[in-house]
Amino acid sequence: MNGRLRVNLGKRAGVTSGLLGVLCVLAEFCFLFPDLLVTREALPFYKANLDVFRGILWTSICATFALGAASLVLLRSKTHGLLGIALGAVALQMRFTDSVESGPATVSAGLDYFVLELLVLGLLFIPLERLFALRQQRIFRRGWQTDLIHFFVSHAGVQLLSFAVLIPAHAFFSWAVKYDFQQAVASQPVWLQFIEILLAADLVTYWVHRAFHQVPWLWNFHAIHHSSTAMDWLAGSRIHIVDALVTRSAAFIPIFVLGFSQAALVAYVAFVSFHAVYIHSNTRWRFPALRWLIATPEYHHWHHTSDEEGIDKNFAAFLPLWDRLFGTAHLPGHWPRKYGTVKFQPPESWLGQLVYPFRPRKATPYG
Ligand SMILES: [Zn+2]
Ligand SMILES: [Zn+2]
Repeated sequence: MNGRLRVNLGKRAGVTSGLLGVLCVLAEFCFLFPDLLVTREALPFYKANLDVFRGILWTSICATFALGAASLVLLRSKTHGLLGIALGAVALQMRFTDSVESGPATVSAGLDYFVLELLVLGLLFIPLERLFALRQQRIFRRGWQTDLIHFFVSHAGVQLLSFAVLIPAHAFFSWAVKYDFQQAVASQPVWLQFIEILLAADLVTYWVHRAFHQVPWLWNFHAIHHSSTAMDWLAGSRIHIVDALVTRSAAFIPIFVLGFSQAALVAYVAFVSFHAVYIHSNTRWRFPALRWLIATPEYHHWHHTSDEEGIDKNFAAFLPLWDRLFGTAHLPGHWPRKYGTVKFQPPESWLGQLVYPFRPRKATPYG
């Protein structure tokens, strides 16, 4: 093996071992303090499948050790590998607890959600973005740490966030809820309800999204999402909390008023969680037959471009139909050249991005 390849492989193994080790330690904390750290609604599911989750954790700890050891062998510098192995050892030392019981806490952190999502999405998208890369870029590209913090905050705070999202609909649209109508909606086939949710939620969020672009003080919040200059599966997590709250609350209003069945809602949430990650990914599939039907990475990459031709285009999250109808669709035969905001960049740090919209400064249309 040549020297450069050896160093590259060694570094990758070491960093992956370290990150996996951190996830293992966090997962162990979830086992130790379920009341505090685990999403309450998910606790019965974890309890019923405890062996499966312990199996996943055990496999991850083994992988942490194996990758750490590989890094020790391949690299002259032992820091990466030793750190991974140390984290694996900490995870191993933390005792498993048999009592994954729900306790008195009413709000708990969704640390479980963060660990599992990061593991599943990472295992899926990191190889996918290597094998079918649109652009050659590093996994740990510029800004990945900030995006990981965004990912952590939105996942660990999932319970608070989902609760807050329900408030505006309940507060302002209860008058529009008609029981008989809702019964009729919920009795339709699930696939039909799923399509209806997509249509309704996407129509509302199309206009909210467009407002975020065109109203200068709103743009200050949304500019955070557009500040990534590299697109990949993690880049989509970069969203200001106010942006996420307003957009999701708006999407929930038609869902609340129309009253879809639980099954259709679960299908919608599962689809959205995956789709939102996928359309930001650094993958090159173009789906010629579907590209005008459902938003693809190509479609959403054009929304993120700083190329003149793509500015303020493709606001729809799922259905290009809305952009075509309202004159904002843009899907030429090529990919955009570059991404990011046009005039100036919001700060790179998570905290800087959090306070960015509140800082007094002259607003400009594109940040
Ligand atoms: Zn946007
Ligand atoms: Zn986006």
